[in-house]
Amino acid sequence: MPDGTPVELFTLNNGNGTRVAITNYGGAVVSLQTLDRDGVLGDIVLGMDSLAGYLEQTAYLGAIVGRYANRIAKGQFSLDGKTFQLPLNEGPHHLHGGIRGFDKVVWRAEPFTDDRGTGLSLRHTSPDGDEGYPGTLSATVRYQLTEDDELEVEYEAVTDAATPVNLTQHSYFNLAGPDSGDVLGHQLMIRADRFIPVDSGLIPTGTIAPVANTPLDFRSAAAIGARIRDADPQLEYARGYDHSFVLRRGAPGLVHAARVTDSGTGRTLDVSTTEPGLHFYSGNFLDGRPFAHRTGFSLETQHYPDSPNHGEFPSTILRPGERYRSRTVFAFGVLPGGSGLFR
Ligand code: BGC
Repeated sequence: MPDGTPVELFTLNNGNGTRVAITNYGGAVVSLQTLDRDGVLGDIVLGMDSLAGYLEQTAYLGAIVGRYANRIAKGQFSLDGKTFQLPLNEGPHHLHGGIRGFDKVVWRAEPFTDDRGTGLSLRHTSPDGDEGYPGTLSATVRYQLTEDDELEVEYEAVTDAATPVNLTQHSYFNLAGPDSGDVLGHQLMIRADRFIPVDSGLIPTGTIAPVANTPLDFRSAAAIGARIRDADPQLEYARGYDHSFVLRRGAPGLVHAARVTDSGTGRTLDVSTTEPGLHFYSGNFLDGRPFAHRTGFSLETQHYPDSPNHGEFPSTILRPGERYRSRTVFAFGVLPGGSGLFR
């Protein structure tokens, strides 16, 4: 780091050849290599080749996002009778934890191996008042690559004063590879009947709307690009998809949230989570520095945007004595077909 703090890069491997490189700068997944249908290994996330690249980019590439992933309107919320003001780093609003969020800090890293695979444990203590948030928050994120080609991300946090917490992982995927062009041909299925409508500043309006008869209906698989240019105010505000979906779920626990497939390489991605929401972002604001418009998409498991200002949404407030826990599994595979030699 510019101040001399050392930054490391760790690689998790499994017996199938799948490999994930993770840096403790922002806890970012730098590369994620999986086999395609013909057994060819290739990267499926957007990442930078150097730490300098990470310091420069502003897209939260592959990073852990916190304390609060997504937007908080006007950077303000009230908690237990006190009003807090957070930095405004996205026009008039607060985005992804502020100016120096969890994506921009060096985490304490410790590799581990157990009977399920190799992993990396990352720890960070965010001091009281950090980016305007109350309380000292101690967060742990555990990445683990299993022999079943799953990348598990487990989050935990404790605090010494009530504070909003909403952590996520911000990988941009392109199942055909980072240099393959846009992701509009990928097929996407999201297990959600409802989504969170937003205003022109991408702040929730407070209602929860059905996806039926809208371009946000991904209950059956559809190409990301099939309706992205439809004349729909939601798509116009976000210049594409940048929306939180209300996942279909019964009891609490891990549920299947989304599936993405790329017919060219045959690669598949399945996302499961314990979170109530899935934020699907189609890379609309990627501007060629260095990744071009819509060359990656993110599926960010999280609570709904601006929850601290919406009592009707599931609460994101963590209190002393409680433990924040969240778990997401990204599973990689291939469609049937291809040479069949490797699977
Ligand atoms: C947000 C986008 C934002 C992107 C990168 C996404 O999670 O929803 O609006 O541009 O992150 O900052």
